[in-house]
Amino acid sequence: MGFCPICKTSANLEQPSGGDYRRVECRKCGKYQITGSALSMLETRLPANDKKAVARLSHATRLMFSTTDAEWPEINSVNLDDMLKRPLPTIDRQMANLLVWTAAQLEDDHLGAVELSDEEDLTGVIGTIDGRRVHELISRAESEGLIEFVPDNCISITTQGWARLSATVAEKAEPMMASPAALAVAKVDRIIKAHCNKCRGITNSWVRAEHTVTGNDGPISWSDSFEVLQCCGCDTLSVRQEHWFSEWDEMDYDQYGRMVMRPGIKEVYFPAPTVRAKPEWFDTIADEVLRNVLDELYAALNAGLNVLASIGVRTLLDRAGYLLIGDPRGGFEGKLSALQTGGHISAHEKTTLEAVADAGNASAHRGYTPTVERLGHIVDIIENFLHRAFVLAGAAEDIRKTTPARQK
Ligand SMILES: [Zn+2]
Ligand SMILES: [Zn+2]
Repeated sequence: MGFCPICKTSANLEQPSGGDYRRVECRKCGKYQITGSALSMLETRLPANDKKAVARLSHATRLMFSTTDAEWPEINSVNLDDMLKRPLPTIDRQMANLLVWTAAQLEDDHLGAVELSDEEDLTGVIGTIDGRRVHELISRAESEGLIEFVPDNCISITTQGWARLSATVAEKAEPMMASPAALAVAKVDRIIKAHCNKCRGITNSWVRAEHTVTGNDGPISWSDSFEVLQCCGCDTLSVRQEHWFSEWDEMDYDQYGRMVMRPGIKEVYFPAPTVRAKPEWFDTIADEVLRNVLDELYAALNAGLNVLASIGVRTLLDRAGYLLIGDPRGGFEGKLSALQTGGHISAHEKTTLEAVADAGNASAHRGYTPTVERLGHIVDIIENFLHRAFVLAGAAEDIRKTTPARQK
């Protein structure tokens, strides 16, 4: 025994050996199997208090069972989202589902009566959120003359009900969503550890698609694999390339002192892993040139192009100075002095920005490569300056204008 991962009622659960899936027999959701990856998706996509989502998935699971021949229809990472999105049926359709269920219990005993089980158990079959609504639906079916109550707690289908049922069968049962994703067969997506730019680190990710090309030249071999990855946490997509070259393989020792071979694999992500994210105020910078250069600065930082990043910072300083005070004589030194005279920066900040400009010059003219740490400080300084000069200055003006004047 265990709990149904969909509706959380106690259910019969099995974990067949040799497969990453579970088989569930639930009073509400019926018989189904669910893959390990779909199970882990449920944690984020199906909050236990979201009764509607639970009802939708429970009903879609029942429906999947009734529309396939599979003994254990499968919920997997491919069809789960479609099943969750599938709306609950209309009242009319719920009524039909009640009749279909009752008829299935009666088999060919058309005048017989079916004992109503716990109304909660019928939510999945009928497609309602809870047992109270099942109760409501049964009352409506009775007042419409489709069913009759038979003591104790049984229902039978009226002649009118049978007529309605044959009409329902003619128009076919509630169709299962026929999107390609829903029809995709039981393919279990692998979960691997990979970098996610949004979560800023290594996360569990599904391998949604992959292809590998291999080659060799005598004893030397190589392979090139591309994988489309989707972060299990935030759904962000990325592509990972793994290039293996046998000549890069290295012999090493594991923690028990045994010799092991570490395969020579180079890993590249597209887009490149974010080393430094753009500041949140980036979009509020009005000047397009400034924004473009900033964009390229972070692209360079994230690609490890430190010389270009350092030059980019100098360009930003140049452009920012131009926007604030135009183009005074005397190159960078003249510009920084004019910024100070104009009250845009303090004497202390002038010294700091001079250091940044010098590093940029050294990179531009002598190919100077700042260390990662130093480059981090350089970027901190320029971010600070731009934030104050182009974002906070405008904000301060707004505050001044909108603050009610003191009553005289
Ligand atoms: Zn269930
Ligand atoms: Zn993520």
